[in-house]
Amino acid sequence: MFSRDDLQQLAEYQGQHAVLSLTLNVDPTHRTKDEYRLSLRHLLHSVQGRANGDVAVVERFFDQEYDWSGRGLAIFSNQQENFWKVYSLAIPIVDSIFIGPKPYLTPLANLWDVYGRFVVGLIDKQGARFIFVQLGEVIDGEGILGEEVRRVKSGAGSTPTGRRRNPDEPSDRHLNEVIKRNVKDTAHALAEFCEKHTPRYLVLGGNMEVVKEVRAHLTQPWAERVVGTIAGDVDVSDLVLRDRALKVVEEVEAQREAELADAAITAAAKNSHGATRIDRVLTAAHKGQVQTLLIAEGFKSEAYRCQHCGDVTLAPGTQCVFCGGAFELLPDAVEAAISKVIEQGGRVDIVRGHAALNEVGVAALLRY
Ligand SMILES: [Zn+2]
Repeated sequence: MFSRDDLQQLAEYQGQHAVLSLTLNVDPTHRTKDEYRLSLRHLLHSVQGRANGDVAVVERFFDQEYDWSGRGLAIFSNQQENFWKVYSLAIPIVDSIFIGPKPYLTPLANLWDVYGRFVVGLIDKQGARFIFVQLGEVIDGEGILGEEVRRVKSGAGSTPTGRRRNPDEPSDRHLNEVIKRNVKDTAHALAEFCEKHTPRYLVLGGNMEVVKEVRAHLTQPWAERVVGTIAGDVDVSDLVLRDRALKVVEEVEAQREAELADAAITAAAKNSHGATRIDRVLTAAHKGQVQTLLIAEGFKSEAYRCQHCGDVTLAPGTQCVFCGGAFELLPDAVEAAISKVIEQGGRVDIVRGHAALNEVGVAALLRY
């Protein structure tokens, strides 16, 4: 299991030698084992000659140890300093490989920020069950049971003359009051559960009429974090609930990323607070302009940077057109952009399956 502490420790790790960071999507519902092996070979090939000891250890791990369990995998290796970490994840992760002075944490950090943390609430007239899911694993659960919802026999169903008059009215009123109280208690308990776990998203299911009521009684910020609903009865297991909610959250997240990519590409076309292509994005990053960096999954590029003014180009002349400075080669320009953006407190998203972004490779929303 991957914990917050692991993330913190990785972020603090600083060796004298380069660290190889690898993340691999191994979700059996997406592709076959052979397809993942192929993807792994491509990733390792792309860093050929740069971290041979680490690549060999990773290959040996896949050949001899790994059982292909889980849906995502993250590996960090620095053999020269005996540093080796493997994390099997319960949710899929993007494919990525980086070699740098520190572990490359963007894919894992993204999982944490977004669909790594959510609460699922299964709600009916009498009570509710909540689970908290972190990086795909069910970490905590809680059930609340309100007053039993049943009709009370009032004995006032008929008058002495035998004429029926509103036979259901008193018991219905009682019934509604009980449900109302239970709804309030449930909304209160759900808010407390959320305060304990601070989820990014909430997914609710069960009796949809009651869900609607609970949602209306839920305090902020939790009410606005409800992103969808799922089907579910009381006897549905935690893992089934998790999987249904995960689907909702994955869709919401994919939608959010697609909208960001659209916005960045449009802004770049209008030349207003947007940039596309690695040379322009990297130049903007160098000036501290990038608010959100969007990278097409698997995109890699070399680029050249002017050592004097920092301008980046893909096709360098003999000297910089702006200042006459000399160029240096950036073997992995995407990695350079990512570390620059993170350094400046910006956000990085790796986006899968966005056609326009795949064409340009990278896009950015700019601060100014
Ligand atoms: Zn220059």
